[in-house]
Amino acid sequence: MTTEPWRLRATVVCALALSAGAALPARAQSSAPRPAPPTSNDSTVALLTELIRANSSNPGGSTELVAKILAPRFEARGFEVKIIPTPDSGKVHFIARLKGDGSKKPVLIAAHSDVVGVERDKWTVDPFGGVIKDEHVYGRGAVDVKGGMAVFVRAALMLAERHVPLARDVIFLSEADEESGPYNTEWLAKNDWNDINAEFALNEGGWIMKDDDGHVRYVSISTADKLSIPLTIVAHGTSTHSSMPRPDNPIFALSRALAKISEYETPLTITPAQKKFFLALSKTSKPPMSTYLRDVVGDDPVAAKKADAIVSKDPLLHSLIRNTIAPVIINGGFRANVIPGSAQATVNLRMIPGSDPAALVATLKRIVADTSITMTLSRAVYGVTPPSSENTDLYRALERAARTEFPGVEVTPYLFQAGTDAGAWRSRGVPVYGIYPYPIDADELTRMHGNDEKVSIKSLRQGTEMMFKALVDVAGKK
Ligand SMILES: [Zn+2]
Repeated sequence: MTTEPWRLRATVVCALALSAGAALPARAQSSAPRPAPPTSNDSTVALLTELIRANSSNPGGSTELVAKILAPRFEARGFEVKIIPTPDSGKVHFIARLKGDGSKKPVLIAAHSDVVGVERDKWTVDPFGGVIKDEHVYGRGAVDVKGGMAVFVRAALMLAERHVPLARDVIFLSEADEESGPYNTEWLAKNDWNDINAEFALNEGGWIMKDDDGHVRYVSISTADKLSIPLTIVAHGTSTHSSMPRPDNPIFALSRALAKISEYETPLTITPAQKKFFLALSKTSKPPMSTYLRDVVGDDPVAAKKADAIVSKDPLLHSLIRNTIAPVIINGGFRANVIPGSAQATVNLRMIPGSDPAALVATLKRIVADTSITMTLSRAVYGVTPPSSENTDLYRALERAARTEFPGVEVTPYLFQAGTDAGAWRSRGVPVYGIYPYPIDADELTRMHGNDEKVSIKSLRQGTEMMFKALVDVAGKK
């Protein structure tokens, strides 16, 4: 994801602009891990720096490098380890299982091992160097999601190190192809379901948001993801010599269509989880923002509309209460003296589960009102599945661990504004919860998929403690 900060005021957290500043994928420069720079003694931090140095950029990098870092650690602690190759060399899934007594079904904790590429010249440190600076770990994946992987791995290893008796197996999964590519968890689930079948699973998703002063405001646990659906818009015209322009120039037509779409705002669409999230956010905010956050999910349409105008200045909050429309790629023309026969835009629709993409496209066609324009929906990148129940041992364990680690904090379910690879489990009836397991602030959130991505060392420690508590709670013998 791409992120961008936006602070209305100190009481509103942060923002995520999914369309801005996309990093260009870069081919991995080398398949070998870098030599180790100086590392902290903290083992979550040390592991994260190693994971960052294993360049697993997708495309071009190798998730096998990640598996090679993880395997000996898990084997040394008595986990059953399995590396699952895919038809693409260098892309592997990695599974480590710590056996319980089998009285309960397993719990699975998962993190993708691939990362997006970098705009290297815009970084102030080596993005694959695992650099520690100013009490932060820097590098591609620090937040998304090698930091999360390091926390999950350490929490799982601590179960073995501290000899916690387990009622259920704890399965750790490092996934390939989450950022893009065919050998993702859907592929894994089709080929190796038995190894990843569980009562419930934990993945990336919700946030532990902190203010600039480091105070944690809330913990959100995602129970569903928005659906990412590409829409292709094509303007058709006459291909001819550019010295004789005609009225049907497709580049003009496409520009007019996109300009009209840019002025359209989708209506408020509030899910039950989002209502809880905004009410929790309202409790941690000061007036008048607390009122707006409550009204925007309330039953009074006039108050909701007024609140929407304020709340939606924050791009993250804006994205949580409606379907969104973002042009992401535009193509048209090939020579300076040729008017092309067509021009094309790819528009990324992010849909609240339960909304109808075809209905949104019908609305866009009506707004554009141009017969030279065609619009074609691609299949949903992430399948339509119901939200995961909050009434499970894992959800409750996460909630309790969050309240213990961050006393007084609001804990709330959440609809994740982007997509994850949770669909492989949710579509098979296995509840999946999402959390990036470290307190993060608006600035750090901005850098996810961006430049100088970083996570704080203190946050990694807090996250490891919280996750260890949650795993003991959900998997330990009572
Ligand atoms: Zn991710």
